[in-house]
Amino acid sequence: MKKNIDDSVTLSDSISRWIRPEIRALKAYHVPPATNCIKLDAMENPYQWPESMVDEWLELVKEVELNRYPDPSARVLKESLRQTMSVPESAEILLGNGSDELIQMILMAVADKEKTVLSVEPSFVMYDMVTTYAGMRYVSVPLNDDFSLDVGTFLKAIEEHNPAIIFIAYPNNPTGNLFDRNDLQKIIDTATGLVVIDEAYHAFADDSFMNEAGSADNLLVMRTVSKMGLAGLRLGLLAGKPEWLAEFDKVRLPYNLNVLTQATAQFALRHQSVLDKQTTIICNTRNELFNELCNIESFQVYPSQANFILFRTAVGKATDIFNKLKDAGILIKNLSPIGGALEDCLRVTVGMPEENKKFLDALHEIL
Ligand code: PMP
Repeated sequence: MKKNIDDSVTLSDSISRWIRPEIRALKAYHVPPATNCIKLDAMENPYQWPESMVDEWLELVKEVELNRYPDPSARVLKESLRQTMSVPESAEILLGNGSDELIQMILMAVADKEKTVLSVEPSFVMYDMVTTYAGMRYVSVPLNDDFSLDVGTFLKAIEEHNPAIIFIAYPNNPTGNLFDRNDLQKIIDTATGLVVIDEAYHAFADDSFMNEAGSADNLLVMRTVSKMGLAGLRLGLLAGKPEWLAEFDKVRLPYNLNVLTQATAQFALRHQSVLDKQTTIICNTRNELFNELCNIESFQVYPSQANFILFRTAVGKATDIFNKLKDAGILIKNLSPIGGALEDCLRVTVGMPEENKKFLDALHEIL
């Protein structure tokens, strides 16, 4: 059919006609610029590799064949990850371009406007956003005032909505706590759909469900290398029953892990002890930073098993403190605009001791 050129149709009319209303209503995921800032907003590992390791890596990169497509199944990398992440033999592994992509693959495979995705509130924003991209319904159960899980209400929500997918971040982002393991077990036992335990912050936590991956029919365990010090690589891992993962693999784009990511991740995992040492330092530093923040009388500080700390300022002060820290060259995350349980809340990523000191000094100046 020939296009009927109608001058009265504006670009904005066209966008309204063709872009789904729920997508038009969204705001794109915003990452604030951080040039020349002390960057404590994105849960990155602040440490670099030792120089000798960088040199060794550069030698390896020289050999990478950029003219070839990557190994589509990333076989060698999967085996290295199985070892370092202690994935049980009974579980299959699926890799994503970051765990964000795994969330997308899971939801694309089940997408249907009649189906529900269930999580808690507050939690990782991408569960809600990707549910919207997939055209599904998102339901979240509010956490208790101390950010623990209200398991009774959650189990009722499972009964009411019969969710296709449940996402639980363990530890949770942005609150930093681990929920009660027995409660999560009840959720896994009750749900008829899949339960994804998102262990993005596992490196800093005392507990994991990885041992159960491949045993429980409806359990998927998700990990990422981002918080271990490899955020720039974009590599996430999903472990679970092979039958489920075979279905998700069908919606994976053929070469989702590029050659540089595959080669570099394999190299980094051969030097796991370097990453582990950095993680230990981050955990120790987190505990020091937690104690320092607890000394500030006007703050309520939440215990963390992750590489960040959530704290609540005096009423109405969070945005002002956030802006003044930014003016002082220190970028943290202002959660207060989200409102609800996060009103007056700020989240700081654990940096290097000297960065944390600058953050604390600036805070003391501001308060
Ligand atoms: N899950 C949680 C709970 C997160 O906080 C994040 C990142 N902030 C991710 C998943 C995504 O991690 P990535 O895509 O870097 O693997």
